[in-house]
Amino acid sequence: MAHQWRGVIEEYREHLPVSASTPVVTLREGGTPLVSSDVLSEATGCSVFLKFEGANPTGSFKDRGMTLAISKAVEEGSKAVVCASTGNTSASAAAYAGKAGLTCAVLVPAGKIAAGKMAQTLVHGARVLEIDGNFDVALEVARTLAESYPVTLVNSVNPFRIQGQKTAAFEICDALGRAPDYHFTPVGNAGNITSHWLGYAEYAVGGVIGELPVMFGFQAAGAAPIVTGRPVPNPSTIATAIRIGNPASWEAAGKAAADSGGEILAVTDREILRAYRMVARQGLFAELASSASVAGLLQLSAAGRLEAGAVVVCVLTGHGLKEPDWAIAGAGAPPLLPADPAAVAAELGL
Ligand SMILES: *Cc1c(COP(=O)(O)O)cnc(C)c1O
Repeated sequence: MAHQWRGVIEEYREHLPVSASTPVVTLREGGTPLVSSDVLSEATGCSVFLKFEGANPTGSFKDRGMTLAISKAVEEGSKAVVCASTGNTSASAAAYAGKAGLTCAVLVPAGKIAAGKMAQTLVHGARVLEIDGNFDVALEVARTLAESYPVTLVNSVNPFRIQGQKTAAFEICDALGRAPDYHFTPVGNAGNITSHWLGYAEYAVGGVIGELPVMFGFQAAGAAPIVTGRPVPNPSTIATAIRIGNPASWEAAGKAAADSGGEILAVTDREILRAYRMVARQGLFAELASSASVAGLLQLSAAGRLEAGAVVVCVLTGHGLKEPDWAIAGAGAPPLLPADPAAVAAELGL
């Protein structure tokens, strides 16, 4: 039988906090494509690769952390998990809880339910409960619930999430046979860039790679607390997955970027949309938030900050199908033609 990817826990077991008795709850996440980009390589003079995390089972990198968080919850005897989210975290939590047979509760701010990702959450059988308050209030309720009742919190403050997500860095090194010179990633709650740096650092200590990458993280300009140095009370950006005003992993992310010789920078919504379209034209449909990494690449390249020939990896964190509105907006209605091949050929200029 051909080899099937086993999921991140089995593929990287020796690097993760699991034992022989940990029940592995997996949807065979990870093993995502690392795709070379001719268009971006040509535009920047670098050798650019895109790590397409949209290819995970629920369409985002959240699955890497969720397989571990849910496996550990089952190991600890938990019967239920809870998170506050309307996004990719709840979609992933719902799917893995469903696989494990756990109850999954998703607390959302009243009236703020986003349709696309909520569809996943509902179809996987999570209990969605509206809380009278904003996101921060919902998270506080989830935290307190997890402290007082037999239910595990699977928001990114769960330490197993960070551990699982570091496997993206392992896969990149395994595919390239080295670390990239530069690693670019979108930054929201800032857990992902923190976990990638952890992964690279562990591979360096273990002698798997000789050099560490320079890490650049990109926040949306309207939601860039790490860049400006203070929390943003009303974050605003089209990239909803990184619309976060007070990141949970703020300090760790800043340290990861600084220790690697990189930075956390901001990209505008206009830059994000341009990158989103460029990437989609090359056959990879990434979420708007995901495109912040490519927007950052183009920004640094235009500023002359990347040396020619450098090996660059941009992480595309989630799948574009989760929010199709931006792809459809502005495309215009298709022309109506007679049922005539000649007319179709003429329209196509064949
Ligand atoms: C969660 C998420 C992010 C942000 O990741 P953080 O770890 O919060 O920085 C970016 N893009 C997508 C698609 C996400 O789901």
